[in-house]
Amino acid sequence: MLNRRRFISISLSSAAYSMLPGMLWSTVCQKDEYIMTVSGKIKPDDAGIFLPHEHTFTDFTGAEKVVQPQYNQDSAFNFLMPYLKELKANGVKTIAECTPAYIGRDVVLLKRLSDASGINILTNTGYYAAVDFKYIPDHAHRESSEQLASRWLKEWQQGIAGSGIKPGFIKLGVGAAPLKPLEKKLIIAAAITHLKSGLKIAIHTGDGAAALEEQELLEKWGVSPSAMIWVHAQNDDTGKYHLELAHKGCWISLDGFNGNQETVERYCKYINSLKDAGLLKRVLISHDDGFSVIKDSGFEAFKKGAQYTTILTKLQPALLKSGLTEGDIKQLTVFNPSQAFKVEINAAKK
Ligand SMILES: [Zn+2]
Repeated sequence: MLNRRRFISISLSSAAYSMLPGMLWSTVCQKDEYIMTVSGKIKPDDAGIFLPHEHTFTDFTGAEKVVQPQYNQDSAFNFLMPYLKELKANGVKTIAECTPAYIGRDVVLLKRLSDASGINILTNTGYYAAVDFKYIPDHAHRESSEQLASRWLKEWQQGIAGSGIKPGFIKLGVGAAPLKPLEKKLIIAAAITHLKSGLKIAIHTGDGAAALEEQELLEKWGVSPSAMIWVHAQNDDTGKYHLELAHKGCWISLDGFNGNQETVERYCKYINSLKDAGLLKRVLISHDDGFSVIKDSGFEAFKKGAQYTTILTKLQPALLKSGLTEGDIKQLTVFNPSQAFKVEINAAKK
């Protein structure tokens, strides 16, 4: 039987969400829905302002070359805390940390940072095949999609490497189209993992044609477009694939915002064209900020300038000037990411 809450949830069109004031969102979310953070489950309603693609530290040395990440954990903790405190002061409540295994993922550090800062942090399972497979462990070349999925599902069921900390999403990385056999194998492994766990699939993608290939492959393996987050969608500078994949139901993650004027203009253009097409409900925005681990000399920002905050300080004012409403901004920064990262099996329609 439909209870009132469920009825409200299914009877509101997605477009109507953007018109709802924040207080009402709690009434459209299901009671048992959740997002998985490094400290356990939170309700989507409680995720607040949510940056869906950021990093703390990434070690670019390469898979299995050294024990990663190469830093003293206390130094890393002390280095990053001021940034998290600043994020919190700016109203951000949740970040998805997108550094995969074999490229510096450190879930124990993430838990420490989350506990000390009060920021919710999501970590991930999955492998990053972009950059000529430099970050792919040996076993991934030999094993089948089913075997890889069982490794990722073990992290989901038992926690990562004995820590008890669970991933909140699947993160993959692939290059430009056409997809290579190993990249397809990882995407199929992600489909299997999603259908058993409900973890959403975020894929770093080289170009728009590759994103379309990913979506088609996932669908062939039984996964709805709504379970796919197209990471670095800004790589498609025509915007053509944004509209096509958003229309199918994929999440379009515009996540390299750096505060430069050129980027402000480009992101305003992409976001307005998605809004004009009635597709703002499928858009995510983030910075992809973070720090590289430099052996013996500490940490270096991926990009110069302010870290993790330019969406709030530069993009939002520009979007408002370009015609978006406060409700639209809330949709982009609060509601959409809470829906994108909700743990939920999204099977393809038969
Ligand atoms: Zn990234």
